Amino acid sequence: MTVAERPATGGRPSSAYQTALEQLDLVAEHLQLEPGVHELLRHAKRELTVSFPVKMDDGSLHVFRGYRVQHNTSLGPSKGGVRYHPEVRLEEVRALAMWMTWKCGLVNLPYGGAKGGVTCDPARMSQRELEGLTRRFTTEISVLIGPESDIPAPDLNTNPQIMAWMMDTYSMHRGYTVPAVVTGKPIGIGGSQGRVEATGRGVTIIAREAALHLGFPFTEAAVVIQGFGNVGSVAARLMNAAGARVIAVSDQNGGVVNTAGLDIPAVFQHSERTGSVVGFPGGERVSNAELLELPCEILVPAALDSQITEKNADRIRARGVVEAANGPTTPAADRILGDRGIYLVPDILANAGGVIVSYFEWVQDLQAFFWTEAEVNAKMEQILTSAFQQTVATAAQHDTNLRLGALIIGVSRVAQATRLRGIYP
Ligand code: NAD
Repeated sequence: MTVAERPATGGRPSSAYQTALEQLDLVAEHLQLEPGVHELLRHAKRELTVSFPVKMDDGSLHVFRGYRVQHNTSLGPSKGGVRYHPEVRLEEVRALAMWMTWKCGLVNLPYGGAKGGVTCDPARMSQRELEGLTRRFTTEISVLIGPESDIPAPDLNTNPQIMAWMMDTYSMHRGYTVPAVVTGKPIGIGGSQGRVEATGRGVTIIAREAALHLGFPFTEAAVVIQGFGNVGSVAARLMNAAGARVIAVSDQNGGVVNTAGLDIPAVFQHSERTGSVVGFPGGERVSNAELLELPCEILVPAALDSQITEKNADRIRARGVVEAANGPTTPAADRILGDRGIYLVPDILANAGGVIVSYFEWVQDLQAFFWTEAEVNAKMEQILTSAFQQTVATAAQHDTNLRLGALIIGVSRVAQATRLRGIYP
């Protein structure tokens, strides 16, 4: 039998969730948020846990556990990705949903925050099993999702094909096609130009802005990227194309380094051929832990949360960290990096290109009127660079770092919406 899921461990503490709460508490203190509003924002509005069977290829039934959490809907329908991973737990999904709320607030989208996930190991499942899992999970969470209520998107180990199955399943239940129920779909069925690259493109734009701000030329910057998936690989390609020197990349199997700069198109070919960047002949092998500690101008964690912790923060040798992943730095590590003068651009700003273009996709689907890639990219860049400038200004105004500056903007917008709408009944 295909073992596709590890047993859930129930109350296992999630460092991502602790991180999210600590960050919110800090912002609340800074903003002197009313205790009632602070308490409200500490909680998710809705949390759905589902257990559902999937027929595996060997004929057996396997029961999977999945989650959809809507953290807040004060600014509009909730928005957030769905991840497939053996480590997915409710607390982690809850943390990610909260970060989506602040992210949408920060870049001023008419959305609240949500996240979903299924505890599974997609690397050990066939396409047919993944389709069965996706269709049944979509059906189970269809009581919550919809173009006017909650709109999923891709995240870790999910992709346009999985979004296509989600959209089709939801549409079959409705009896008509509902493209706007998910974003990150293939272009042929209502996806947006530029969506696949959006998060990595946004990370590249933000890295360029950070270099400008720090006063070194982006075109000469040495860049290290952890994670070579949708986000990390696109960031590597676009940063390389922009002239930066990408010296190290990695995936879950390990990494490869060449201080003279990796031949990124050749790394892509190697990774496509072998399934990993490991073993690329144009560089030396490096572990994921070692990779994070390489000297560079810009370090881009683009894989999992809690990668930079108090255990390795004092060995990080980057001038700036651009957080492409969600929650890659713990609060203790944040303090250490700050004390050491390492500039950090937080996740909710650095990876917001994805949700911005998801928003554009939703708008295009609702209007059934589609934009060119140039329009999509230009509008995204405008929103992102303006959010970067606002974050820098807010951080300066409050005499704090960019993470707190970004969170102050995001949390303030949600708190203001809560006050304006009032408390029902
Ligand atoms: P993905 O599944 O496409 O890629 C993940 C990459 O990380 C893969 O290369 C994988 O091998 C690698 N990886 C997994 N475990 C690792 C480990 N222990 N050490 C090093 N590398 C490891 O996922 P993605 O969509 O690129 O997402 C990456 C991160 O970016 C996640 O934190 C996600 O939440 C965040 N993010 C994604 C999007 C998006 O649009 N896809 C948007 C915003 C944020």
